[in-house]
Amino acid sequence: MTIPPPISTALLGFAASAGIAFAARRAQSLSTSGALAATVGGTVSMMAGWPWGGFLVVWFLYASLLSRVGHRRKAQRTDGIVAKGGRRDAGQVFANGGIYFLLATIAVVMPHWAPTVSVVAAAALVAAGADTSATEVGTWWRGTPFSLRTWSRVQPGTSGAVSAVGSVALVVAALLLGGVAVIIGLIPAGALWLTAASGVVGAFTDTVLGATTQSRRHCDHCREATEQPVHRCGTPTRADGGWAWMTNDVVNLFCTLAAAFTAAAGQYLLPVG
Ligand SMILES: [Zn+2]
Repeated sequence: MTIPPPISTALLGFAASAGIAFAARRAQSLSTSGALAATVGGTVSMMAGWPWGGFLVVWFLYASLLSRVGHRRKAQRTDGIVAKGGRRDAGQVFANGGIYFLLATIAVVMPHWAPTVSVVAAAALVAAGADTSATEVGTWWRGTPFSLRTWSRVQPGTSGAVSAVGSVALVVAALLLGGVAVIIGLIPAGALWLTAASGVVGAFTDTVLGATTQSRRHCDHCREATEQPVHRCGTPTRADGGWAWMTNDVVNLFCTLAAAFTAAAGQYLLPVG
């Protein structure tokens, strides 16, 4: 008895995704919930075709490596501010990859749409990667970023803050990841500029939302601004501006959504490939 191709692809995709996700959990890049979310997302991506799965794997390795390089130095510089550590949980996995997984599912169910949705999906993941690059390189570099909310210098790691080095890293990463999507065969070469530009739009949307509507919290014990619900000192923090539901994960979801809409509109206005 032979296994029908869609089922064998699903099984193979599941095995590969689970293997990578739980290796990443062992390497402290994913939490248990994050590994389960990545297995689900990885399986649908592999089912959409190996360029979809391949791009997801390269993206994940890139983001994980970036978090790791200079980790101690970055942790010192952002101490007490950022909401979550280096291990990505399910919320973070879906915030960054949810749109990509959704579009991969559409590509599986409606294969004739795959060429269009692959550019939109690539743009969403490129945006998340560009945003991660800006944060990781920006916090690693010496110097203090500039807040778009208070128009003043703030501690590295503060949401909605920008630095020249972080912005350069953002644009370079968008081009680099867009190029990877072309090489892997997820998008045609003609869609590189649209994909990279959409990624930049998404990542800057992230910064603007981070500066304006993102939930801000305050630790009264340390008299410090933070994104942590419970501060590193153990004191529960209180809301201090922004919208309570607009957490860092929600902002990241909007980052990928903005990129996806830009890429979709771009393809409609200037068809490529
Ligand atoms: Zn505190």
